[in-house]
Amino acid sequence: VDPRPVAQAPSAGRGEIAPLAALVGADQTAPLVTGGELRYVNLDIAASAPALVAVAERVAEFLPYYSSVHRGSGYASIVSTGAYENARRVIADFVGARFDDVVQVVRHTTDAFNLLARAVPGDVVHLDLEHHANLLPWRSSGSRQVAVAGTLEETLVALDAELAKAPAALLAVTGASNVTGELLPLDRLVAIAKAHGARIAVDGAQLVPHRRIDIEAAGIDYVAFSGHKVYAPYGAGVLVGRRDWLDAASPLLLGGGAVREVSTTGVSFAATPARHEAGTPNVVGAVAIAAALEELERIGEDAVVAHETALRTRLVDGLRQLPGVRVLEIWPGEAEVIGVATFSVEGFSAEQVAHFLSAEWGVGVRDGRFCAHPLLARLNGGRTAVRASLGLGSSSSDVHRLLAGIDQLVTHGP
Ligand code: PLP
Repeated sequence: VDPRPVAQAPSAGRGEIAPLAALVGADQTAPLVTGGELRYVNLDIAASAPALVAVAERVAEFLPYYSSVHRGSGYASIVSTGAYENARRVIADFVGARFDDVVQVVRHTTDAFNLLARAVPGDVVHLDLEHHANLLPWRSSGSRQVAVAGTLEETLVALDAELAKAPAALLAVTGASNVTGELLPLDRLVAIAKAHGARIAVDGAQLVPHRRIDIEAAGIDYVAFSGHKVYAPYGAGVLVGRRDWLDAASPLLLGGGAVREVSTTGVSFAATPARHEAGTPNVVGAVAIAAALEELERIGEDAVVAHETALRTRLVDGLRQLPGVRVLEIWPGEAEVIGVATFSVEGFSAEQVAHFLSAEWGVGVRDGRFCAHPLLARLNGGRTAVRASLGLGSSSSDVHRLLAGIDQLVTHGP
């Protein structure tokens, strides 16, 4: 079901690169404006990664046990509570948590940083390259934003200088840019934070699906990520890290489950994690995240990195051969990258490019400013751009299709 001629596309490299794992919906077709259908190529994995088939199977196994957690005494309740708490343990192990760290199940990374923002006992320093989820929550609690400099080294110096200026409680940084895919040097950032007595929180939304993180070994205090980006369904995410600030913070939500004792006039709250998990938790979401992490563990970081690096190299090499295509980078050539590439096409708006790829080539990408307006202002004069992002289910034929579509657009127009 892939009849379009793509042979004229710019070099997408030699040899097939097959998907590394099966994703739900990978065999969907997309209707084309010019008629007919094509296998749908999803190159918007960085926004929301379709669930792994292994995750869908685990969720289906769990669903018959749907019951209340922590409070019921029935068999299904016991199974559900066990599955929920086991998920917490799998998540803690996957990120290398310390034995006394807490795993808070939240809705997503945005929720995680809103929770941490109410707990942080002082200023937060961050860069202006961040996703809004790791930028706006800090504004309510004394945030100090540092502008990205021309080189990575100069940026690290600027961060160091900001932390030296006045004490800060937290340095909040992304592990990988959701716009350019560039990885930040976490070892250097940990050293800078520690040198000034600050804790460090890592936005793992784009990092965790692509690279392993070991927070205890690396000296990272907090990591947050979202289930829907690690090949689990929407609706659950986690904040993992030091318990003390979170135990001292007022609960994220008020209601059942977060309390120790309620009298007619007063209330005393439970310790973490229950403190910030009022209401019935997203048990299925937590089980799905744990299943996804176990599958990532089984596939292995080396295989993931090799797969995505090979595909991204073909993608970026191919894009650079096309006239008028510019790939955005924060520190050109300096940083390692995950399978994300954002670009602009001269003479066409990002929306036009994305629409053309979808309607004529069955390729899904993202156009916009990727919830990182300050960074797009810096890299693209505030204009929108097109992002293609790869994952475990991507193949060389997906990359080839995207390149063929852009080639047709720049050569013949829409
Ligand atoms: N941080 C980064 C780097 C992201 O890419 C995203 C999502 O695009 C988020 C945070 C926010 O994730 P969520 O929408 O799941 O809260």
